[in-house]
Amino acid sequence: MTNAPLPPSTAAQSARNILTRLHEVMAARTNAQSKLNQVVGIIGECLDSEVCSIYLLRDGSLELYATRGLKQEAVHVTRLALGEGLVGTIAEQIETLNLDEAAAHPDFSYRPETGEELFHSFAGVPIIRREQAVGVLCVQHSDPRRYEEIEIETLQTVAMVLSELIANADLVDTTARIDAAAADQSAQRLTGQKLVDGMGQGIAVFHQPRITIEHTVADDIEAERHRVYAAFDKMREQIDRMASQAEFGIGGEHEEVLETYKMFAYDEGWSRRINEAIDSGLTAEAAIERVQQRTRMRMRQIDDPLLRDRMHDLEDLSNRLIRIVSGQMGTAAQMGLRQDSILIARNLGPAELLEYDRRRLKGVVLEEGSLTAHVIIVARAMGVPVLGRVRDVRTSIREGDLLLLDAAAGTVQVRPTTAMLDAFDAKLEISQKRRANLAALRDLPAVTKDGVPIDLMINAGLREDVAALDLTGARGIGLFRTEFQFLVSATLPQRERQQRLYRDVLDAAGDRPVIFRTVDIGGDKALPYMNMEESAQEENPAMGWRALRLALEREGLLKVQARALMEAAAGRTLNVMFPMVSEPWEYEAARALFVGQRAWLASRGKKLPAAIRYGAMLEVPGLVETLDLMLPHLDFLSIGTNDLTQFLFAADRAHPRLAERYDWLSPTVMRYLARVVKLMSGSKVTLGVCGEMAGRPLEAMALLGLGIDRLSITPAGVGPVKAMIRSLDLGALRQDMPAILARPAANPRGQYQAWAEQYGVDLGN
Ligand code: PEP
Ligand code: MG
Repeated sequence: MTNAPLPPSTAAQSARNILTRLHEVMAARTNAQSKLNQVVGIIGECLDSEVCSIYLLRDGSLELYATRGLKQEAVHVTRLALGEGLVGTIAEQIETLNLDEAAAHPDFSYRPETGEELFHSFAGVPIIRREQAVGVLCVQHSDPRRYEEIEIETLQTVAMVLSELIANADLVDTTARIDAAAADQSAQRLTGQKLVDGMGQGIAVFHQPRITIEHTVADDIEAERHRVYAAFDKMREQIDRMASQAEFGIGGEHEEVLETYKMFAYDEGWSRRINEAIDSGLTAEAAIERVQQRTRMRMRQIDDPLLRDRMHDLEDLSNRLIRIVSGQMGTAAQMGLRQDSILIARNLGPAELLEYDRRRLKGVVLEEGSLTAHVIIVARAMGVPVLGRVRDVRTSIREGDLLLLDAAAGTVQVRPTTAMLDAFDAKLEISQKRRANLAALRDLPAVTKDGVPIDLMINAGLREDVAALDLTGARGIGLFRTEFQFLVSATLPQRERQQRLYRDVLDAAGDRPVIFRTVDIGGDKALPYMNMEESAQEENPAMGWRALRLALEREGLLKVQARALMEAAAGRTLNVMFPMVSEPWEYEAARALFVGQRAWLASRGKKLPAAIRYGAMLEVPGLVETLDLMLPHLDFLSIGTNDLTQFLFAADRAHPRLAERYDWLSPTVMRYLARVVKLMSGSKVTLGVCGEMAGRPLEAMALLGLGIDRLSITPAGVGPVKAMIRSLDLGALRQDMPAILARPAANPRGQYQAWAEQYGVDLGN
């Protein structure tokens, strides 16, 4: 809103007159009832209306609380159920009615005690609190006339202020109303894509919660205007910045969303309407909400799904604007989860998810999301089920609704019935039994039916993850993502903090090996506290200045990490792995840096690791061409199939539309991996896979078939993958593999499934 303020319109002026008088009433030290009596008097007088009445929701029905013009005997006597009569319809539908002949409306319900037969015209607006109607404000007149648009707008503005008065005076139980409304609403079933398996039950919590407006009447209109100007500037800045950020820089859906955001953010009509609402005497927050309420009411009458989607975006933006203006920028994580919850968001970053209390977070529902996005890897590590690509989230789910999430079934039940709850519990019991059966495998070796031992390790990233070693019986940690510590910190973790974490992890692991991967930041793992300007402006951050590329340039960062790792592993074997190696020299440079730091520590008489083993990740397809040059200097190689497949197919791993387009079991991936296995044959370098692919029984089976016998996977995958291994005739599979690779079926997944079925492999189905 860069324009100079316009003179207040007549509508604004008329509302402002009323608001000024209401302000005095609200500030007076009288009781709520007498305030409401004064309010109906003022409105009736200012709008030149014979009748003005306020109905408030109480014990589930709308009670006449105050009136000017109707019979006073009817006050606290006349009651209408939600949906009953004109007043009940307004509250139930959250809509405005403006009628020249009230009795002619099909919903009209005559109440003789009020004496309303004298009045023909009727206009009523809902009084809204937290998106629910808590009452109705209406005016009536003996002339059969329609109220002017200006008068309706004034009523709506006044209703907004009344909602504050009502809430402050505790006149209606808004929570009960919301619960009642939720109970009214029938159960619903939304579908989506399983991103992290599991079942969870909890109440709906929005990652970016709605803000309840506390003050509606402005003390100083100019000050409010400036607050809203500043908020608009800030919001536009944020939107522009988003455009250059990783998640929005990739075209497709994100780009469409961003375009719409931009369109609304710069829409002069929207800012003008907010300005007008401020002119009428509302605070900046109330003005934004007032305009949004009006838009919502209009949208209820439009049945165009495309337009409704766009309105969600405006809703998002309006919410953002209120959050900026009120300074309440926090997410639900910052406010803390108070009970078992299912988190709802359009999308999340890995760091945002990590801010939530794991004990209370029972699931996540995303409107977007894809299998290998880092946030999903984090969720998997946290053991939190995630359902992605769920549509109509914001129209179907409200804050506080009970949700049953069943990721495997691809569903979330909203406001379930008792029967649904029972069925869910029964299914949960079965899945817990299966988990218990899998847990029983914990102490059994990961050996195939024909006696081939498989090295089964877990992926981890946080101190708490290490407990999964004992719970799963895995042989060690094949990938410790050290960047998780950086992502959960508010500031760059200093050497001591890093060292403490690494030492704790090694202590907890005992004799079991831990492979520490050096920081893999950048891409979708941006650190807010680090100056990442170079990457913020990237068009393709996943292929940009990230991981080892960044670490080699920010040498200080890698040196600190090297020392922290070496000191933590003093007297033990340290396994270090470098991410995103594209050419051998990068690996050599990183290794040389570690060797240099080892010498530095030695020169200071520090105790050193008994041995250091160096490894690299194969994530950039091109590295295969020079693998032979690197092998003599390597101790181990780990294939990161998440990044590898994104680069093999040139398909962003976080892009929701591409999430299911390419299959890990496609000949492209399988033949590529077969080539790597062949190149490594005869070498002493151990080869493993640590991408998400390896944590799924069917994919893991295919990897073993290729000749890979070391998998590092998400802890939740250990049981199912071990069950697969123990039921697998690996000799038979390895014999059939060349034919499968040479003549892949049109549906390669089906081909592996058929093989597994024929040979009785346990895939957990
Ligand atoms: C991978 O890319 O497969 C991998 C294991 O690393 P990350 O998922 O952390 O990028
Ligand atoms: Mg990777």
